[in-house]
Order: sequence, then C-alpha cells, then structure tokens
Amino acid sequence: MKQALQIKVRGIVQGVGFRPFVYAQAVRNNLRGWVRNTSSGVDIHLVGDSEGIDAFLTALRQEPPPLARIDEILTEAVEPGPFRDFSILESQPVPGEFLPVSPDVSLCSDCQRELLDPANRRYRYPFINCTNCGPRFTITRAIPYDRPNTTMAAFPLCPACQAEYDDPLNRRFHAQPIACPECGPQVRFETAGQSALDGESALAAAAAALRQGKIIAVKGLGGYHLACDAHNREALRTMRERKRRSAKPFAVMAANTAVVEKYCLVSEEERLLLESPARPILLLQKRPGELLPDEISPGQNTLGFMLAYTPLHVLLLNDCAGFTDVLVMTSANLGEEPIVYRDEDASARLADLADGQLSHNRPIYMRTDDSVARVIQGKLYPIRRARGYAPDPVRLPFEVTPLLAAGAELKNTFCLTRDRYVFLSHHIGDMENYETLQSYREGVGHYKRLFHIDPECIVCDLHPDYLASRQARADAQENGLPLMEVQHHHAHLAACLADNGWETDQAVIGLTYDGTGYGTDGTIWGGEVLVGAYSGYQRRFHLEAVPQPGGDLSVRHPARMALAHLWAAGLDWPSDCAPAQALCSEERTALRLQLERRLNTPLTSSMGRLLDAAAALAGVRQKISYEGQAAIEFEALADWDESGGYPLTLDHQIIRLNQFWQAYLSDLLAGVPVSILSARVHQSIIQISVDICERIRAEENIQTVALSGGVWQNRYLLEHTTNALTRRGFSVLLHRQVPANDGGISLGQAVIAGWKLKNL
Ligand code: ZN
Ligand code: ZN
Ligand code: FE
Repeated sequence: MKQALQIKVRGIVQGVGFRPFVYAQAVRNNLRGWVRNTSSGVDIHLVGDSEGIDAFLTALRQEPPPLARIDEILTEAVEPGPFRDFSILESQPVPGEFLPVSPDVSLCSDCQRELLDPANRRYRYPFINCTNCGPRFTITRAIPYDRPNTTMAAFPLCPACQAEYDDPLNRRFHAQPIACPECGPQVRFETAGQSALDGESALAAAAAALRQGKIIAVKGLGGYHLACDAHNREALRTMRERKRRSAKPFAVMAANTAVVEKYCLVSEEERLLLESPARPILLLQKRPGELLPDEISPGQNTLGFMLAYTPLHVLLLNDCAGFTDVLVMTSANLGEEPIVYRDEDASARLADLADGQLSHNRPIYMRTDDSVARVIQGKLYPIRRARGYAPDPVRLPFEVTPLLAAGAELKNTFCLTRDRYVFLSHHIGDMENYETLQSYREGVGHYKRLFHIDPECIVCDLHPDYLASRQARADAQENGLPLMEVQHHHAHLAACLADNGWETDQAVIGLTYDGTGYGTDGTIWGGEVLVGAYSGYQRRFHLEAVPQPGGDLSVRHPARMALAHLWAAGLDWPSDCAPAQALCSEERTALRLQLERRLNTPLTSSMGRLLDAAAALAGVRQKISYEGQAAIEFEALADWDESGGYPLTLDHQIIRLNQFWQAYLSDLLAGVPVSILSARVHQSIIQISVDICERIRAEENIQTVALSGGVWQNRYLLEHTTNALTRRGFSVLLHRQVPANDGGISLGQAVIAGWKLKNL
C-alpha cells in the first residue's frame, strides 16, 4: 500500500549532515519524494510502503546525525505525489521564521585521518572539514547557513571540491566551509622584521619558534591564542609578564586524552567530554606528582586541559612532538580585554605579546572564547559557555515574548528569546572597558539579525551602575520599549530553574551564594537563601551583613575583608595574624577608623567575601590578582577527610557569624593546619545550608533546592552540599546548560520577565 507523509523537523538540523542522512535513509527504504531546508528546519516528503516509512522514522528518531539536535518531529499524512525518485531540493525560506545556528565543531575523526594520510589530497591541509566538523557560528554572517552567508564566501570552490559538495552521498555534501589546498584558506607565519612564510614553511617556523621557547599567536576558530611550550618555565614567566597576568591559570592543549592522563586524573565521563565535538577546556584534578610546571596554575589543584580542536592545532602539536606534548593556549589579550580576533587589529595588539603570528586568511566573523567546564556527578557543569556551545538555544518549558536580557557586569552574557527558545550569547566578558561594551553591542545586533528577533521588552539587573544595565536603559529609551529590572539573586535562582526545565511557578529553596549582587535594601547581597520561583521570591535567610571597607578595594584585598569581619564580630585583631601583618600599622589604624566611622563601608552579606576573609586569616592570600583567587586557593587546600566545623547560628532571618569567627580564631591560634581550617570553614557552610533547608521544608514542605551563584564553582561545597541534601531526601537542581556564575544571569532575567509578561 503506497502511503505519503509530510514531516517537519525542528532543532539543529542544518549544517550537520542532515539532508544527506535523510537522502541515504530514503534510498535505503525505497522511498521517493524530497527533502529541503527551510528557515525553520527541514521539511521531508515521503512516498512509499508503510514498512519503509516506519523504518525511516525509526532511524530519524533513534540514529540522527551525531551533531543534530532534534527538538520536534511533526508528521502529517498527505496525498502521494508523482515522484520517480528521492531528491534534495533548494532551500526555501519561510518569512519571519528562524532557525538555530550550529556551534563550531571540532575536527572529526574522519577528517583527522585524512589530514594525516599522505595519500589524501588534503594531507596536512589546516582547514580540512566536512558536514560533521569545522567552523560554524564563528564564520556565519547571516542565515540560512549557506556558503555566501559565511566568511568562506571569498573562496570559490575548485572542481574537485564542488563535486564533493554536490554529491548527496559524499560526506562533504553541502558542507559550507569545505576547502582544499587548491581553493581554500592558507596559513601564514609572520615575525617582525622578516618576510612572511606560507604553507609548510609557516608551520615549520611556528614549531621552531615554540621549540626555542618563544611565544606565538595562533589564530583559532573564535580568536587568537597565545601559545608556548607548557614545559618551558622561562616561556611561562615571559607569557605572564607580557599578558600582565600574575597568577590566573593558563589553559593547556594536548593532542589526545592519553597525554592528558599523564598529568591529570581523567574519569570516563571526563574523557567523553574532552573528546566531545565541543572540546571545552575541562578543569581536571592534577595527578599527584604531575610533571607540568606550577607556573601554569599556581595555587590550584586543577589544570584546564583541552584537546586540539582545529586541524591547525593538530598539525602544530604533531610538529612539536619532538620536544613537547603540551602547549599553553591562552586567549590573546591584555589583562581583561576581549580576545583578539580581527586580522586588522591583530598585528598591532599582538606585537607586544607574541614573537610571531601563525595566522590565516579565513576571517572570524564572531569572536568566541574557549568554553570552560567541569564534570560534576558524571555530567557537564559549565563554567564559561562559549565555543562549541553558543549559540545553541536553551529550550524553555513555556513560551515567552521576544525580549532582550542584558545580563550581569562580570562574565557577561546576554540573551534574546523567541517562542520557547532562549538564545544565550557566548561569554562576552567583564563589562568594565569600552572594548567589552563594544563587543556586547555587536553581539546583540548579530543575534537579533541571525535569529530574526525583535525584542518587545528589555530586562536588566537592578544595579544602578552596571554598564550592561545602563546600556539596557539607553536601548529601552531609544527604542521606546518597556524596561524591567530584576534582582541579581532572583535571576540566579530562576536561571537554575530554567536550566533544569522547571515548568511551573512552584517555589523552591534557592541557595544563591556568590560574591556580589545588588540587593533591594541597598546592601550588597551574596549569601542568600531565597524561597521562590519565576514570579517572585522571598529573602528567607542571609549571612549577617558586615562592612566592606572601600567597596571593591576589599574584594582585591581579602586581608581588609578579614579584619572587617573580625571587627564586625566584636573580636580583636590578633597582631600576628596574616591579615594584620599584611597591613602596616598606619593602614590598620586607618582601617579601624574607617570601620568605626562607617566611611565608605557598604554592607555585604556576601558568601564570597566570607570565604575570602577565612582564606586571608588562614594565611592563604592577602591580595588577589584575579576574581575569587583567595577562595579558590583556600578550597584547593581543604582536607576531604575532615568533617568538623564551626558554629553558624540563626537569629531570625540572619546567619550570625560571631561564634563562627571565635571558634575559627581559636583553631588558628592553636596552630591547626590550613587543610583542616579550610575543610571546617566549608563544612560550616554546608551544615548551616542543610539546616536551613530542613527548617524551610518543615514549615512549607518544599523538597527542591536550587544551587546557583558563582560560589558553586567551588567543588568542595558543591559536592558535599549536594550529597548532604540528597541524603536527606531533597531533590537538588544544579546548573547543567549555563554557568552557575554570572554567565547565567541573563537566562534568569529573561525567564523572570518572560513569565511576568506571559501572566499579565
Ligand atoms: Zn570532518
Ligand atoms: Zn578545493
Ligand atoms: Fe552573581
């Protein structure tokens, strides 16, 4: 019996080898009809017998191409048309519709095999790719994702590539960035005062420079990296000086997991993530006695490893194999400026950073940093969401009005919504300089055009001075759009709910712990236990507010925060404690006066500052050079076998710190080792968190706890708290798609505003 079926597939189904897959399945099952891309997905028309159609649908559901993400399959029985065969039709745009764009994809194993096969015509060609791999988002200027809409438009295909591009059974059928040595981009190596080298000589010169301990810039997918031999201490020191980055860890790159395992402990789940198409930088536990220099991630017990993800990286590591197996690959920028990605400013901005540049002539349209992640309880736990993940949308369990959410000040991301999708941007960065603001603006414009989104409302943080909020207010005014302001920790809570597909407005307990967020009472929040969901929240418990002398000054100087905490607890400053020693006697006197007279001492209930203060008192760090450094180094020292703690007490809604500091000081003065001090501080926070959850459950029968805020990047706190709550029967929501830190704030803003507008 001949039947006909019309199928609409939505999700990430373009640029991922979907039509060749459909074609092959149709031919295999003796089906006729056609397949074509539309601007909302892929449409398929099938004619054949019912077994064939069933087999086709089973394959579509159960074994779609590896990079595809199917959100929806709609089928409808139709009249069989007069088709003699199965064909792939031209794309048909549907006005007003939109389509997700695939993130960039690391080199696939088929292409890697060809890259290293001397008999292949793309042997050692640094831009080899196919329908399963290669650049996507970073080269896309517009949709539909066709070659003329990418930065590959400038490279006409040679006859051999064209033949592959046109053959439905070839693995490069309609692979938009397809290229070969005849027709595609070329590498180039440049050093000041010397003539540029191309092709193999460029690769040889780059490897030679690395062997000599030089620092070179390498153009990647979303921007330039600075690379050096990770075993070369001298090169590492030079890199730190030039980048003006004294201690923040450098990411490192290896050719395969076996190399990573020499230096780090790698679980099966971690191996899978390392080797996944996204290839994020994965934070891995250093192997005891590991042989990479401390200078890479000083004071930390982890290394940020990623595997080579472009053919150029594979060749570079291959060519360096004689002298090193690991390269530092850190973003090419100065301090906190955005990563360099435009060839026009590369020469000027890289001149003082790198001794040479390994570049190429395939332009990067959108800059994208490497993503950073961790594996927690066997699953991905994002820390920075960028290359390989953006611009994949987060799918919501409900529909929202098109809106723009501006995100937070640090680790900014923005997002735009449409239907049930939240298009969360790649990591934009810390909004504290003009360049970052500029890339925020460019990014918003690009996402609006790419996904055809015209926001009807703009959402931002309550903070009066956030650059992102100011920009949002200006945008709202300029476009005559309503503006909504959302409290920072409420946004964290809602982000965690949306991240976990929370469908209703049923309240949960939100342990929202971070460094800084503007509170509704004018103080700085950060140690907040909220009860609520999308439509609202109550601040149920919070850390006692203490003065933060000099505002940001105390963030950079945990010593000051430690002394402020002791002062607020009514405790003397032991003259030989590390924070007191870090200040001269005039500074101590001035600090005391400042505290007593409440001069520029905003109040904070921040969990981050509490950890900073404890770290400083333990002698770990009095002054930091990157965000969270003191707390991170303190965590790294914790003894996982210790279970003692200090008393944090509840006084109505406030978590009091006096007895905590008293007990901590007496341990400190008794000479208890820092590994125990650290564990006990962490255990105290876990204990009070669990007690509070129990209390709320007893009163309101709430069983679900969401963990959000930057403090939950602390693995000790995260794993112990999750385990303790789970043991007591709570269901715990962790971030899985967006970071727990401020990189997730825009998602929270969007769903809070979206929920409100939906229920007006
Ligand atoms: Zn490939
Ligand atoms: Zn070619
Ligand atoms: Fe935050």
